[in-house]
Amino acid sequence: MLKKTDPTIIQSYLEDSSNLQGGHAEGVYLPESEAEVIEILKECSQKKTPLTISAGETGTTGGCIPFGGWILGTEKLNQLKNLDKDAKTATLQPAVTLETLEKETKKLGLLYAPDPTEQTAFLGGTIATNASGSRSFRFGSTREWVKRLKVILSTGEILELKRNDKSQMTKDKLMRPNYQIPNVKTAAGYYSKSDMDLIDLFIGSEGTLGVVTEIEVGLIPRFFDTFDLIAFFPTENDAVDFVEEARKKAALTLEFFDKNSLELLRSSYPKIPEKAGSAVYFECELTPESGLSYLDEWGKLIEKHRAKLDDAWLGMNDKQKQELKDFRHAMPEHINEEFKKHNTIKFASDIAVPDSKFREMLNFYDSTLNALRSNFFFVKFGHIGQNHLHVNLVPRKPEDIPLAQETIMKFVKKAVSLGGTCSAEHGIGKIKHPYLREMYGGNGIREMVRVKKHFDPAGILNQGNLFPKDLLK
Ligand SMILES: Cc1cc2nc3c(=O)[nH]c(=O)nc-3n(C[C@H](O)[C@H](O)[C@H](O)COP(=O)(O)OP(=O)(O)OC[C@H]3O[C@@H](n4cnc5c(N)ncnc54)[C@H](O)[C@@H]3O)c2cc1C
Repeated sequence: MLKKTDPTIIQSYLEDSSNLQGGHAEGVYLPESEAEVIEILKECSQKKTPLTISAGETGTTGGCIPFGGWILGTEKLNQLKNLDKDAKTATLQPAVTLETLEKETKKLGLLYAPDPTEQTAFLGGTIATNASGSRSFRFGSTREWVKRLKVILSTGEILELKRNDKSQMTKDKLMRPNYQIPNVKTAAGYYSKSDMDLIDLFIGSEGTLGVVTEIEVGLIPRFFDTFDLIAFFPTENDAVDFVEEARKKAALTLEFFDKNSLELLRSSYPKIPEKAGSAVYFECELTPESGLSYLDEWGKLIEKHRAKLDDAWLGMNDKQKQELKDFRHAMPEHINEEFKKHNTIKFASDIAVPDSKFREMLNFYDSTLNALRSNFFFVKFGHIGQNHLHVNLVPRKPEDIPLAQETIMKFVKKAVSLGGTCSAEHGIGKIKHPYLREMYGGNGIREMVRVKKHFDPAGILNQGNLFPKDLLK
């Protein structure tokens, strides 16, 4: 069994993209087999040693950062065990990256549809956070694509969880938290719906219930072809009007950038039109029947909403598509750099609301933020197809940090009042506890604690994720 206690090695496990500081651990276990995972879990349970699971360390909420105890690094469990072309499934160990899965499925003409953005993330991390990607507008989140999971509980017990196996859920009523999750894209807290499978409880549970050691996901045939387009609109309202019509036209992706996002990106993309007040990146599937008239229809739709076709960036071949995709991916990277420059953790919302409430939420963002221009540089960008924008606030001065916290909380309260979620894709980790409490109340959090104790009686796994560890006492 590989164990490391060298401080420089430990240090490399104390960072993800949340910029959360102060993490510490006594050492790192690097299991090379499931049997070793079981051994570690049993030993830590017996000694009550906290254990924090680490994967690609790309999470944005400090979920993989330990505050005491040991780290369980999953990186040696990285085998892609089987790709079944006929069944359209992939069976893999948790440390296979999204990049590897994409490369290997491509060879067989298959695709892993949810496609979360950060390709160095491990599949295990994406299951634990129920990650989404830009194509989640069409294909849903990771949850919808997980067929089977093998999970090791802290007691060493192995759970084989299968999609649609209702018997697993009905065995024990204690397993489901006594609340209903909102009817929007969400990754906030334990899943709970009356028709759920037990596997749903573990997807998005942020490593608090068990260690995922084997994963089977569904795949689809790759598209015949696609085209991508970035349209620049004079105002935000024009972009939103466009999106409302575009939603009905079966796009794969609909992503939004506000004016400030474009300003930030201009340092790397000087060709962004001077007068652009917002932009929408969309991706559409082409079939052998689509033909050029389909492209024309989209051209007319953007012009109807005052975007100029001449200013739009079109991706038809692989190189152009990659350039547009890079533009989309540059946004989180640019804003993360801003946070680092200002030496602060991320102040970013991850809110989604129902379709009918999106404009109300957007107006609320704008009226609130316009009054706080002297306190923050802010951007709004992301998955507008699912009414899910990331509002990021970079405090201009250290004194503005508490105001950033208050402002995000104000957004969460508003979203919850509209039937939305405080986290649509990034999860809660260690930095968003108050938002989860706002969403489910004290009773909801107590329900989560109850479920956590049921599966992890020693309370050692991923302490501090979802709720403060003191609640486990
Ligand atoms: C530039 C950038 C863009 C991003 N874009 C998106 C996006 O579009 N959509 C999105 O959803 N996220 C996005 N993220 C966030 C991040 O990529 C996801 O949260 C991802 O799922 C984290 O995976 P990871 O392997 O890095 O996990 P880590 O950060 O290492 O861990 C995440 C959580 O999963 C737990 N965990 C990991 N492996 C296991 C396991 N085997 N068993 C149990 N628990 C486990 C960890 O303990 C931790 O709580 C982005 C991040 C960056 C840096």
